[in-house]
Amino acid sequence: MSCCFRGARVKGKFKESFLLPALSVKPVLTTELPILREKLNPPTPSIYLESKRDAFSPVLLQFCTDSKNPISVIRGLAGSLRLNLGLFSTKSLVEANAEHAVEVRTQVQQPADENWDPSGTGQTWPCESSRSHTTIAKYAQYQASSFQESLQQKTVGKIIKFGTNIDLSDPKRWKPQLQELQKLPAFMRVSSSGNMLSHVGHTILGMNTVQLYMKVPGCRTPGHQENNNFCSVNINIGPGDCEWFAVHDNYWEAISDFCEKHGVDYLTGSWWPVLDDLYRANIPVYRFIQRPGDLVWINAGTVHWVQAVGWCNNIAWNVGPVNSYQYQLALERFEWNEVKKVKSIVPMIHVSWNVARNVKVTDPDTYKMIKHCLLQSIKHIQILRDQLVAGGKKISYQSRVKDEPAYYCNECDVEVFNLLFVTSENGSRKMYVVHCEDCARQRNPNLSNVVVLEQCSMEELMSVYDSFSLVSTTSSSSR
Ligand SMILES: [Zn+2]
Repeated sequence: MSCCFRGARVKGKFKESFLLPALSVKPVLTTELPILREKLNPPTPSIYLESKRDAFSPVLLQFCTDSKNPISVIRGLAGSLRLNLGLFSTKSLVEANAEHAVEVRTQVQQPADENWDPSGTGQTWPCESSRSHTTIAKYAQYQASSFQESLQQKTVGKIIKFGTNIDLSDPKRWKPQLQELQKLPAFMRVSSSGNMLSHVGHTILGMNTVQLYMKVPGCRTPGHQENNNFCSVNINIGPGDCEWFAVHDNYWEAISDFCEKHGVDYLTGSWWPVLDDLYRANIPVYRFIQRPGDLVWINAGTVHWVQAVGWCNNIAWNVGPVNSYQYQLALERFEWNEVKKVKSIVPMIHVSWNVARNVKVTDPDTYKMIKHCLLQSIKHIQILRDQLVAGGKKISYQSRVKDEPAYYCNECDVEVFNLLFVTSENGSRKMYVVHCEDCARQRNPNLSNVVVLEQCSMEELMSVYDSFSLVSTTSSSSR
């Protein structure tokens, strides 16, 4: 391409979406209202794998990533792949890394379909829990004694502790555990060429690394969509079960409205949906039990909340299959996060360019969406560049180094791509801080004391854009 935006006149702030509505691939679910009560409790898409071969069939990938299936349970996956889940049992974890850090959420035990307000007068949405820290060994002790106590007395409304977000990213500390997960089909693995999160170029803890959860009955993961609407994989290690609730992405705004009504922030707050509220709003809820060895695939954008039925551990991570539905929802949330001033944990512009550089895209819809995003990205950069040059601001080229992370604005958390507005703080020459253009100008309208760094030349970007083409499935085996 040639630089068609050069000299484009832009009045005020240039801000265009990275998405083109005409390219939307969202499914049309149902139009009849009200939905029959039985349709509000749909059966959960489930697969029982007969053999190891079934796990590697392309049909499984199609089933899991079908935009009409918000969530899928692969029954007995661990068994059919002969995964040794014992490596993630509490006993093995203590033996491997007893002193490893565990984040603890203190909660009140209650039935899975109830969430009482603190005064005990009625059901509500907010479900705050306080946070503290412990170690794997200490939580293991708590988990075991909680089990012993339960044999002696039945309790209700007691205070329980949930061991969450235990970081299993270190390949040296968790070698046998992480190796075992390589037995999964490629599209479910923590890392694979078809996974957008493997093209970020750096670690995003809990997303492209494994996290572990240690539970006693009643431990709750409040309602949420994954960061940037990415897919998620969750395996129950056992010995107890987990109960899952899930709602299709199409209804997330309705759920967000409920949160707002109850004074809890949808994106950053903790909430547990009142089921009757959802049914009254004609929102279908998938509800099912995940047994030990079952793998749950949470499709892009699915709102879900989980409660432990028994004593169990779970492992989970995110994946971003390169398909149009995933890509669209990820970019939509990227833009919504900016509106809500919430950080996008996945730097989607950075990822889009890396996918264009490194992935052979075979699906035309996905290709068109990514190509459009790149075009918008080039447009943003060119217009910003021209404005800087016209204002006499020097732009210094500084090429990216290997494993250099994506950048976010220090003030507003928006992703800053390619043109970085850098200041050195506290007079220290070594403490460089990155800002977006808006925040840089807010501090310093004429950008004196701000260095503008360019990480890729326009020529480089345009060359990547031009080289990014749709790969035909017949002429190449890309995945
Ligand atoms: Zn900013």
